[in-house]
Parts: sequence; structure tokens; C-alpha cells
Amino acid sequence: MSEIKCIGVLTSGGDAPGMNAAIRAVTRAAIANEITVKGIYRGYRGLVFDEIEDFKTQNVSNIIQRGGTILKTARCEQFKTPEGMQEAYNTIRKHGIDALVVIGGDGSLTGARCLAQKYNLPIVGLPGTIDNDLFGTDTTIGYDTALNTIIECVDKIRDTASSHERLFFIEVMGRDAGFLALNGAIASGAEAAIVPEISLQKDQLAEMIEHGFRKSKNSSIVLVAESDVTGGAMGVADRVKKSYPQFDVRVSILGHLQRGGAPSAQDRILATRMGVAAIEALLEDQRNVMTGIQNDKIVFVPFAKAIKKNKPLDPDLLDILNAVSK
Ligand code: ADP
Repeated sequence: MSEIKCIGVLTSGGDAPGMNAAIRAVTRAAIANEITVKGIYRGYRGLVFDEIEDFKTQNVSNIIQRGGTILKTARCEQFKTPEGMQEAYNTIRKHGIDALVVIGGDGSLTGARCLAQKYNLPIVGLPGTIDNDLFGTDTTIGYDTALNTIIECVDKIRDTASSHERLFFIEVMGRDAGFLALNGAIASGAEAAIVPEISLQKDQLAEMIEHGFRKSKNSSIVLVAESDVTGGAMGVADRVKKSYPQFDVRVSILGHLQRGGAPSAQDRILATRMGVAAIEALLEDQRNVMTGIQNDKIVFVPFAKAIKKNKPLDPDLLDILNAVSK
């Protein structure tokens, strides 16, 4: 028999479409196993400042289709201090919470790992981030929806780009991971993607210019991951304007559009599978793991591995983009 009678669930860090579907699945799967559920508001802030509500099955009705997170999310600096983390743990004890489910990105799972280790608390994490930058899972909750939003926007920009014969640099999210930029470029038929994994090693733009930028086309679209190294779409566009003053260069920054919207079918299904798996994992005494998906099977990845920030981009995808964009 599991010792776990009560779980807390929270969403933390950057929001991602599908977080609500995950909250719903976690809540319903727990209740089905006679575990009570506490909804913790605003991520770790809700633990530090005791913003907690009993969650019944009705609390998660009618949310599977909604973007954002009904539990709200936040970044909480206090939680990173020993005093703040102690406060968080006091709140956990006060509410009789035996285990936590944390839905968030690498920062949130890093916090989960610290809390789990320090207080010997069972925690299971769900990868909730549009960036897809967690190791050990093929995809993360929110990534597919964000990709779909990107291609919808790029399709629209393409109409005006081709009408005016312009060169567009479109900035997408993913400061440390180029999944959105690269797969967004493939899916939208863009000419190239400037991604952090490569721009740290070499100057991708210089290479493009060297090879004769836009030789055969009148309009072009390049997806650029936001970046301090390249300066993002603005930085790249400024450099191109200097080399090619004759080009009609424009920039579009998609920004927070990419976080919003109803989750795609894939993200809803992923979130639901992972939410149910998280409760199963806790009942089987798993702890300090993130649910992942590999080859369409749910797996459990130790936090330490998931958050190492070394999830590689598939180099084949870059070749594929090059092959179809000539
Ligand atoms: P994301 O989960 O989207 O990557 P952040 O990196 O902003 O978002 O992290 C979300 C929250 O997780 C932080 O505001 C903080 O409360 C907690 N957190 C992040 N890193 C740590 C850490 N090293 N130790 C403890 N808590 C952390």
C-alpha cells in the first residue's frame, strides 16, 4: 500500500499550452486512486506564501481546451533561498501533502530536485515548456502547439513577403534551444534557421552571406531563435542590411503569441498521458523523476538527467532544411 494520501500540484516558470490538460489529468487520476489533491497557486510562490486550495474533480472541469494555466504560474526568487525553501516545506507539512507533482521547465524541475533532495519528499515532474529543451523526452507539453502557432504566423507573413519581394527575419522563442526555430522553419518552408546550438560554434549568417544569400529567390523567410549571441532577428537583419543594402529586409518578432492558444490534440494527449503516469509513478514509489515520452512510450527520467541542458538538435533536420530550401 502506498503511503501517499495527499498530493499537491503546481505549474511553475514559463507557461505552456497543455498545462491545464496536465493539471486535469493529475487531479482526476489522483482522485480515482483515492488520493486527495491540493492545487498550489503561482508555482513555488504558492508554497512559500501558502496559496493552496483543495481540488475536486469539478475544479478541473472544462479546462482541457484552455491555454495558460488555471493554477497561474510565477517565478519565485525566495524559493531559491534556504529560508524560502524551508517556508515552502512548512506549508507542505501544514497541508498534509505527502508528494508533489511539478509541471514546468528546466528551472522548475531544478527547484523540484532541490526540494526533493533536501526534505526527502517524493516529487514527479512533468515537462511543461514550449522550448522542448528537456533531455530524455522526445517532446514536451506545449511544444507542438507553439510550433503550430509559429507556422500559422509564418504562413501569413509569407503572403506579404512574397507580394513585396521582401526578406523577412522572424524571431521565435528558444534562447537556449533551437527546436522551435529549426522545426518551425521546416514546417513553414522557410529558407533557413539560425539556432543557438550552431551560432555558438560558428557564424551561421556569415556563412549564408558567403554562399550568396537569396540567389535564386525574390522573397525569403529565415527563422531566428531569440539570442544574445546573434542579437536575434534584429541583430541578424542589421548585419544583412549592411551587406545587402539593395534587399528589402524586414523583422517580425512573434514573442508571447507563441505561448498562448488552445493546446493541440498532440499536447492534450501528451499532457493527459503524462499526468496519469505521474500518479502511477508516485503510487509505485518512484521519486525525483520527470515523465518523458520516447518512441510513443512513457518513460521516467531522473531529474538530474532531464535538466542537464544537453538535449541535442538532430543534425539530420538541418540537412533536411538545407536540402529543401535551395
Ligand atoms: P522554467 O521552469 O520555465 O525553466 P524558471 O527557470 O524561471 O522557469 O524557473 C521557475 C522557478 O523555479 C524559479 O522562479 C524558482 O522558483 C525555481 N527554481 C529555478 N531554479 C532553481 C534552483 N536552482 N533552485 C531552486 N529553485 C529554482
